Amino acid sequence: MDKIIISPSKYVQGANVLGSIGEYVKPLGTKVLAIADGFVAELVGAQVQTSCDQADVELSLEQFGGECSRPEIERLIEKANAFGAEVIVGIGGGKTLDTAKAMAFYSKLPVVVVPTIASTDAPTSALSVIYTEEGEFSEYLLYPSNPNMVIMDTQIIAGAPTRLLVAGMGDALSTYFEARANAASGKATMAGGAPTRSAQALAKLCYETLIADGLKAKIACDQNLSSTAVENIIEANTYLSGIGFESSGLAAAHAIHNGLTKLEECHHLYHGEKVAFGTLTQLVLENAPMEEINEVITFCRSVGLPTNLKEMGVSEINRDKLLEVAEASCAEGETIHNMPFVVTPELVLSAMLTANELGSL
Ligand SMILES: [Zn+2]
Repeated sequence: MDKIIISPSKYVQGANVLGSIGEYVKPLGTKVLAIADGFVAELVGAQVQTSCDQADVELSLEQFGGECSRPEIERLIEKANAFGAEVIVGIGGGKTLDTAKAMAFYSKLPVVVVPTIASTDAPTSALSVIYTEEGEFSEYLLYPSNPNMVIMDTQIIAGAPTRLLVAGMGDALSTYFEARANAASGKATMAGGAPTRSAQALAKLCYETLIADGLKAKIACDQNLSSTAVENIIEANTYLSGIGFESSGLAAAHAIHNGLTKLEECHHLYHGEKVAFGTLTQLVLENAPMEEINEVITFCRSVGLPTNLKEMGVSEINRDKLLEVAEASCAEGETIHNMPFVVTPELVLSAMLTANELGSL
């Protein structure tokens, strides 16, 4: 199998970097159609406008309706066409960014992604999740290339609720372990080939960064302040985990996350909060050493990620329901089959229950 690594062409991160967005975007085109929801437009709209004015970049800021749906994508593409946009910019959370990626893909324009939170590793990726207008999952849209640029303003991200940054750490927590499992099995990654040593090194650095800086970053973020640790965690949550998951592989942790979406009690949780428990379950599933399991549990507790079902809102352990979760995580096409051994729902159920107990001690 060929080895493949994919990534955004440019990644920019810094405090108040939005004040330079005009200069960064200009080489891609001077007519910029940006989308942001009402809250984000209020938060950063003036700063983005000033920066574009200073760089002689013409900006049209359109309000994003809130759902990454086909009708919304089409509505915004029409706005972009009418304006004569040369570049699409998405500023905000996951759905805004996914909509911008889709608009750029269908319009054959470059796209710049500007996350205002670091709660998942999706921004750097070459995919969008499309929903119906009612907000139900519809499909994954896979692109032939990653975003042209990802811009992370650490000041803005540090000012967002801490729980979002911590959820991003939960998403990033699985990256190394899923990469390791995927490497052992030799299966293809999301990038469509075998993993490179480069992507595996980034996945490992992602985990090391979480252990070294996660708690410090959480504390600074609690005070809405940035710091070296916050900067490092934003990079880990976004870039290291982003390249890691796409180019070094997903395995059990994310499949178990997908299974957990079956539990109504878990609907209030963020993606990364469920992935954290998925990670713990994967470690039990692969019979990882206690030292490693304890390190992960200690890390989760230190930053406030759940380590057991009760903390995720499941007050009563119902084996039948958990077996449904396990079965869903083992569905055909799930990344759990990238593990280096055959995984059955019974093994997942056993691992989930054991992880739950270990994480309750
Ligand atoms: Zn994820």
